[in-house]
Amino acid sequence: MAGNTRIWTPIDYEADGKQSDCLRLPHSTDLSAYGWIPIPLVCIKHGSGPTALLIAGNHGDEYEGQIALCNLARRIRPDQVSGRLIIMPALNFPAVAAGRRVSPLDEGNLNRSFPGAAAGSPTEMIAHYVCEVLMPMADLVVDLHSGGRSLDYVASALVRPGRSAEEHEQLLSLLRLFGAPISFISDGTGGGGSTTLAAAAQEQGALTLTTELGGGARLSKAGLALAEAGLKRLLKDQRILPDIEIDPPSPTRFMTVRGHSAFVYARDRGVFEPAAEIGDEVVAGQLAGRIHFPDLPTREPESLVFETAGLVACRRAPSLTDRGDCLFKLMADTDVGPDRSSHA
Ligand code: ZN
Repeated sequence: MAGNTRIWTPIDYEADGKQSDCLRLPHSTDLSAYGWIPIPLVCIKHGSGPTALLIAGNHGDEYEGQIALCNLARRIRPDQVSGRLIIMPALNFPAVAAGRRVSPLDEGNLNRSFPGAAAGSPTEMIAHYVCEVLMPMADLVVDLHSGGRSLDYVASALVRPGRSAEEHEQLLSLLRLFGAPISFISDGTGGGGSTTLAAAAQEQGALTLTTELGGGARLSKAGLALAEAGLKRLLKDQRILPDIEIDPPSPTRFMTVRGHSAFVYARDRGVFEPAAEIGDEVVAGQLAGRIHFPDLPTREPESLVFETAGLVACRRAPSLTDRGDCLFKLMADTDVGPDRSSHA
C-alpha cells in the first residue's frame, strides 16, 4: 500500500504523545543532491479512538487555516485527546513558503493533483503520500481553504454530496456543527472535480469537510476564529477532544451554486471596478461592475451585469483583470430538509 512512496518521516503514527517533525520529500537539485523538502506534521495521539486529519496550506496563499492549525498544534495536550490528531498546517510547503497557490518547484496545484504519483513531481508525491499513508488512517478529514490571491470569499464550509443517504445526513450535521455563516454542497464541478483532496478522502470513506474562510492573500480575523471554533466543535463531536470547552455553533444558511449563470466573467482586459460587495444580495440585471481601459482613456468602460439573483459568495480580489477571469460567483438558498441529527 504505502510501500512505494519515496517520502519518509521519523514520526511514529502509532506512538502516544505529541510529535512535531516533518515529512521528508526527496528533491535533488544542483545545490542539494541528496536533499529533501520538509513538510511539517504534528501527530498528537492518546490511547485508542478515531483519527482526524487536519490540513491547511494545500494552496500556499490561504492563511486562516495555516494559523488555526498552528494554534491547535501548540495548544492541544496529548491528555486532552482520545484517539489521534494528524495536523499539517502547510501541506504544499514549497507553495506556502513562496506565498503562492501553486508550487514554484513544478507549478503543481496540489488540489488538482489527487490521487498523485509515488514517483511524480514534488506536488504529485505529496498527494500520493496523503492518499496512501494518511487517508487510510483518517475517520475525519478537514481541508481548510480560503480564496487565495485571486478571490475574496464569504466565510463558508462545504462538503461533497454523500455517497449514501446516511453519509449525506452525517455531512449536513458536520456543516451545522462547524457553524459557518454559509454552507454549501458541491461536487466540485467548475473547480477541481475528482482531483481534489476532499474527493480522494471521501473516496476512502472519511467524513470530509472543506472551507472557504476569506481571501485576497490576507488574513480574515473572523475566518480564523471560525476555523478554530468550528474545528473544536467537530473534534468534540467525534469524541477526539471530548472535554474541550467550546460555544455552540451559530445557525448556518444552506446555499448552492446554480450553473454557469451564477458566474460573472471579464470579457476584456482592463481594471475591474466592482459594484457589489461580498455578502450582498443582488437581482438579475443588476450592475456587477465595470472594466476600465487606462490605455484608452476616452473609451467607455465595459459594464457587466449579474445574469441571475443571488448572494455574492466570491469576488475577484486583484483589480487588474484579463479576459476570462472570474469576477463574481453567486449562491442561492437551497432546502436540505430538517435537521435529523442529535445536535439540534
Ligand atoms: Zn484553496
